[in-house]
Amino acid sequence: MAAIELEGVAHHYGAEAGADPEWALDGLSHRFEDGTAVAVLGPSGCGKTTLLKVVSGLLQPTRGRVTIDGRDVTPLPPRERHITQVFQFPVVYDSMTVEGNLDFPLRNRGVPEAERRARVREVAELLDLTALLPRRARGLSASLRQTVSLARGLVRPDAAALLLDEPLTVIDPGRRWEIRQKLKRVHAESALTLVYVTHDQTEALTFADLVVVMDAGRILQVGTPRELFETPAHRFVGHFIGSPGMNLLPCHLEGRAAVVDDLRIPLGAAADRAAGSRGTLELGVRPEYLELRTDPAAETVPVRVQAVAELGDHRIVTALLAGRSLKVRVPDGATLPSERAHLHFPPERICLYREGKLVS
Ligand code: ATP
Repeated sequence: MAAIELEGVAHHYGAEAGADPEWALDGLSHRFEDGTAVAVLGPSGCGKTTLLKVVSGLLQPTRGRVTIDGRDVTPLPPRERHITQVFQFPVVYDSMTVEGNLDFPLRNRGVPEAERRARVREVAELLDLTALLPRRARGLSASLRQTVSLARGLVRPDAAALLLDEPLTVIDPGRRWEIRQKLKRVHAESALTLVYVTHDQTEALTFADLVVVMDAGRILQVGTPRELFETPAHRFVGHFIGSPGMNLLPCHLEGRAAVVDDLRIPLGAAADRAAGSRGTLELGVRPEYLELRTDPAAETVPVRVQAVAELGDHRIVTALLAGRSLKVRVPDGATLPSERAHLHFPPERICLYREGKLVS
């Protein structure tokens, strides 16, 4: 229903006299395209909630502009932005029935009664709340109360966008997957612009087509789940996404090889991109791409197997390469070498980073 754009948005919550402020948002620009479902992913304290509050109008940014469909809404209060927000913890009126809670945002906007009834029933049906419509919200479990909150967020047909701030935290773990799928369906069937904030990579990667990764008040990468996995634009993204995250090793270049201590690791296209680079770089490779072998070959480096964690359908091996620890994902059933092993780095899977950023 609306495109939301942040232009050079910075925010701090105040500074001690004479001290530099700590920026919760540090000059951030991004356009949430009309009708897209975007996840904002980052660790606790990176500024995700602050970003949502700036979009919804609960906070005026210290600097920068927010536009909705090209209109500058920076000075406007929340009620003039037509954005709905679902918070981490339920916001419901205890004294009202579930139906009353869902009806409230529609009644407030003067929606005719017949239309209100139909809309409330539709959203209740979608989130399996129909049987609870006559019940008072007081006394419902936290998980059900949050489901009511979500329904309240979805009920307004005129909303320009729906912002969700860690909305599944209090939902029973068994229902999270189901509710996420329902949200995806609502999004697919409506023209709603959805922004879903979470610190949980699984939630972000399974919910959204596009993920915005944040750290320390900045956007480090905007990409599809595949792009974030295969070509993290920043070492932080490489390490933060994945379980375990990307392996990172200090190295320098010699021709078409990365040299880690005295060991040469052949590179593919990354060597061309980094050609002429001097000084220390970092070699990044995901545990999923490394291959552990029993016998040495032309393009392997010797490692020592230090630990093996059994994880059901695969194993995570901790290997020591010149004293540095690396994680290798080994599929179930594959033969594990003994303590002395050899590691192959598929050249095309290697990323190189300079000062944290992908050399590209
Ligand atoms: P979480 O997932 O823990 O909620 P977050 O990524 O949403 O974290 P924010 O809540 O936006 O991050 O916080 C960003 C920074 O701003 C943090 O350093 C936080 O301590 C600070 N901050 C947030 N709210 C306030 C406030 N009301 N007053 C002062 N500092 C605040």
